[in-house]
Amino acid sequence: MSQKGILVVISGFSGAGKGTLMRALLEKYDNYSLSISATTRQPRAGEVDGREYFFVSQEHFKSMVESDALIEYAQYVNHYYGTPRDYVEKQLSQGRDVILEIEIQGALKVKKKFPDALLLFVMPPSAEELKRRLVNRGTESLEVIQARLKRAAEEAVGIEAYDYIIINDVIDTCAEELHQLIQAQHNKTSNRLEFINGIRIGLNQL
Ligand code: 5GP
Repeated sequence: MSQKGILVVISGFSGAGKGTLMRALLEKYDNYSLSISATTRQPRAGEVDGREYFFVSQEHFKSMVESDALIEYAQYVNHYYGTPRDYVEKQLSQGRDVILEIEIQGALKVKKKFPDALLLFVMPPSAEELKRRLVNRGTESLEVIQARLKRAAEEAVGIEAYDYIIINDVIDTCAEELHQLIQAQHNKTSNRLEFINGIRIGLNQL
């Protein structure tokens, strides 16, 4: 199993800059696969079905849940979001590291199912900066921004369940930091048992 890819969960408050960070990481390195979630929310301007998300109806989402086609799913500010199973399992078995950009409830479910998953939480440099970024993005109404800030305050309670935080200040530095953390996870003893056992056997034969 040592050649299997690593499951990396990235969460962060809405507006923390996860999307930009992911793009920077994927541009720089080609060994990562980004999972595309299914969601019942409407596409934002510029979002394309099958690229940012699979935009599906409530009924379709429900049928995915019932047929166990999702690794995890959660409700987030009035909409459902879930991770399709097929893509993730296939990429992992091909040795690619798979990134799930999901919120905290989903992250905790993934950690339960995949104890070796690496959980990372992207944080803004400050609370004020988070609000500034959400307002400047201009994609949500003030009402939705308030709901998302409220959700951020709730999510902030559970951050200790993650392995590391990444403070999103300078994007290139953050992308590099992210890459290093994922690479380090490959050498976690629990991910390298086959290699370790090989050395043990070799030592005993010397
Ligand atoms: P947004 O509407 O801003 O694209 O996403 C809202 C929240 O849903 C973000 O925190 C995002 O990480 C999370 N999210 C996106 N896809 C999934 C998913 O498949 N599962 C879960 N649990 N959360 C998701």
